[in-house]
Amino acid sequence: MNKLAYLKRVFGNTNHETAVWLYRKWVLSTFSILTIKDSGKLDIPYIGYMTKEGYKFKDDDGNEHILEDTSPSLPVLTVQDRYTVKELYPYLTDKDTPKEDNLGNILANIIVIAYPFTTIPYQPRGWSLRSLEAKHISIGMLKDKDEAGYISVQQYLKYVEAVKYLTEFSHLFVISSTPKTITASPEAVKIRKQLVKKYKDKLDDYTVVAKIEDAVRKADEEYLKDDPTYGKFIGGKIKNIARKRMFGTYGGEEDYSNPGHAVFIEESLEEGLPPDPEKLVAAFNGVRMGSFSRGAETQKGGKAAKELLRVLNGFKVVPGDCGTKRSVKYKIDASNTAFLIGLTIIDKNNNHIKLTKEIIEKRDGQIVNLRTPLYCLSKGSTFCETCAGTRLTMKENELTLASMDASHAILTSSLKAMHGTVLSTVDVDPFELAR
Ligand SMILES: [Zn+2]
Repeated sequence: MNKLAYLKRVFGNTNHETAVWLYRKWVLSTFSILTIKDSGKLDIPYIGYMTKEGYKFKDDDGNEHILEDTSPSLPVLTVQDRYTVKELYPYLTDKDTPKEDNLGNILANIIVIAYPFTTIPYQPRGWSLRSLEAKHISIGMLKDKDEAGYISVQQYLKYVEAVKYLTEFSHLFVISSTPKTITASPEAVKIRKQLVKKYKDKLDDYTVVAKIEDAVRKADEEYLKDDPTYGKFIGGKIKNIARKRMFGTYGGEEDYSNPGHAVFIEESLEEGLPPDPEKLVAAFNGVRMGSFSRGAETQKGGKAAKELLRVLNGFKVVPGDCGTKRSVKYKIDASNTAFLIGLTIIDKNNNHIKLTKEIIEKRDGQIVNLRTPLYCLSKGSTFCETCAGTRLTMKENELTLASMDASHAILTSSLKAMHGTVLSTVDVDPFELAR
């Protein structure tokens, strides 16, 4: 039997009682090199073991097979193998589904999406649990029964189980270290030296420093692009902050003796800090400020939490509409459906429309007038249901708890700042700002 025919049978089994893709044993025996001591036991169909001739397994009828093109020195399958999606994925697909995809993504879709859900389509490569949840899974989308565009509590619980199952294989599939992740991009260092020469008289200017740092980051990104860790282990702050400082350039630090100016430390940490008193003082000041502020800034989140708790204590959501005419301008973003669902918008004819998944998708990108508790006129310690939206209404007596999201955001942003910030420039339209 060849691998395509084998996988078609394995993934084609949509009965969750017998599907072998829900067995750890199957994933481990096909995606890694295993030596099983008690080989010869083929108790579950399609879960086999490696022999000198190749991977040996039994089918549903108990017939033994050897899988073609398999060898004891290689895993039977790899996540990079390419297959036609429709051939292996007998579930919901849509116009965004690619014709061909990596086996790893097909497997992830089968486990995390097709196993628990029936109404969420195939996700092309590059998706994350965060993007999936923001678009398809939120408390506002939960329904008791299976209904198009909505998910049931049962499905949600299955989803949690599926995610837990998938994380068991991180040691098999996630590459955390490669030669490129522990070395500097030669091109980035070259570009840095050229720019430092070009701007040698303006290195105390933050916009110049931002320009150099940006060029270094871009060259480093180019260097890492074909690396298997790129966008996974190497991404976000590791790529933009840690790698830049470790291998590109230490970058700009505040000049305390000359406010508004930067001290540019050209060398990276790998090259070592230069024995220049001015640069060393700036680097030490930066480290000291980071360390102190991390402790001191934490209180901002705490203060916000305390204020919110006191202000909102006893607040409730009450049924109906307070009738306020005020709203906020908001740009609808379908990738943020989880937040928007169940909120109310006011259209130009003064119609009140409660946002559903379909309406959000239809109005994606539009700027609308969104009702918010900010302008609610409801009497006493209450918000009306229309201003609060479905999500808050479902937590009618737990508003103080829900408000902790805001204090968390303040706490996280001050803690994040201590991990290092990216210095960059943006174009600003003053008219846009004044509006
Ligand atoms: Zn209201």
